[in-house]
Amino acid sequence: MEIEFVGAAREVTGSCHIVRANGKTVLLDCGLFQGKRADAEAKNRRLPCPVSEIDAVVLSHAHLDHAGRLPFLAHAGYSREIHATKATADLTAIMLADSARIQESDFEHLTRHGRPVEPPLYDIKDAARVEDLMRRHQYGEWFDVVPGLRAKYTDAGHILGSAAVVVEVAENGVTKRVIFSGDVGRPGLPIIRDPEPPTEPADVVLIESTYGDRDHESVAGAREHLAKVVRETASRGGRILIPAFAVGRAQELVYELHILTRAGSIPKVPIVIDSPLATAATGVFEMNADLFDQTEAPIREIEKLFRFDLVSFTNNVTESKALNTRVGPMVIIAGSGMAEGGRIVHHLVHGAADPRNTILIVGFQAEHTLGRRIVERQPTIKVFGQEVELRAQVEVLNGYSAHADRTELASWIGAVRRTSPALKQVYLVHGEVKAQDAFAAKLRADGYSVTCPEPGNKISV
Ligand SMILES: [Zn+2]
Repeated sequence: MEIEFVGAAREVTGSCHIVRANGKTVLLDCGLFQGKRADAEAKNRRLPCPVSEIDAVVLSHAHLDHAGRLPFLAHAGYSREIHATKATADLTAIMLADSARIQESDFEHLTRHGRPVEPPLYDIKDAARVEDLMRRHQYGEWFDVVPGLRAKYTDAGHILGSAAVVVEVAENGVTKRVIFSGDVGRPGLPIIRDPEPPTEPADVVLIESTYGDRDHESVAGAREHLAKVVRETASRGGRILIPAFAVGRAQELVYELHILTRAGSIPKVPIVIDSPLATAATGVFEMNADLFDQTEAPIREIEKLFRFDLVSFTNNVTESKALNTRVGPMVIIAGSGMAEGGRIVHHLVHGAADPRNTILIVGFQAEHTLGRRIVERQPTIKVFGQEVELRAQVEVLNGYSAHADRTELASWIGAVRRTSPALKQVYLVHGEVKAQDAFAAKLRADGYSVTCPEPGNKISV
């Protein structure tokens, strides 16, 4: 079999790897490239290979950098199966519809302001086509992808439905296995189960390396830190403004605040989810509660994890705007996660200059984003073209990261090596150059043979 690295090669977005075997072509993921607009735009419009050649897609999880170009494939005529876990298929449906809506409204906005801009990559109809192509699978069950190639998912513990993929190819009487980690989560993350490294013997492994060069604060430490931020901000009478990814992070925060409230560790402060996508994602979480981590006592004991007396969900822009006139402490959770768009931007315009408030950063903030400028505590930030003084407190919590850190990634690959006596090569994907080089050096010191493939590199297994 041959594997070609198309995206998330020496970078973190655009996850896509092509597996060719027995005359068939299968894509592992088909993610969106994100980052500087012109650069990402050009990469996103280049198909991984001609659509007519693609026989199937196997998806690791619903994040846009893994699934976000599927509607572009559908737009170009792709009409074969897309395999995913059930929860991934459910989440992908709402995320792709949201992505299509954002692209359409960005396009309208920029066109109205006379800016030359390419039409959207896809529209809501293309996103709906993807939904029709989805084939849902349980964790731990083999499924046939194309003749001579089958696959199996194990829980990646990264977001709801996330999976590592075992790809097994029988070709010319020889069976080979590739393990693709997808994005690896962390033990102890709220709600979702701990990562479960596949136990099938692998010949090669493709593993993500986003945080291959550093370790995170512990999840327990993050909960303590969150409690402290809420207590201190509430005592000042301020608001806690949290730019958060709508899928996963928003639900985890509500869950954590629920636990802290029940324990009396924080005062009773209203919690507002001001994001239509987060509201929809919360519904998907509730539909897939069978996947929650039953080793966490609150999961077993609390019937309504995300809906309790302090929580409210805004239904429209009018309700969102009305929050500006409410007085007293409150927590506002809104997208987007890097404050590049979405309703959080409006809350920052109103709240960033008030020293009683706290802006709480809970996720990775890429360069050139508003979130990053807040993390850097710049004295003023530019929002909607207007300068706003940044006088609110800024707190950064990295313990809720959905990605394994260096130690956790090493432990994941260590588990795979123990069950893979014929493991020949480890390929690092989904990481920036600096993180990959550091992680490759660590793995080599531990006796692995490691490569960091460049886009377009092909290997035979
Ligand atoms: Zn992910």
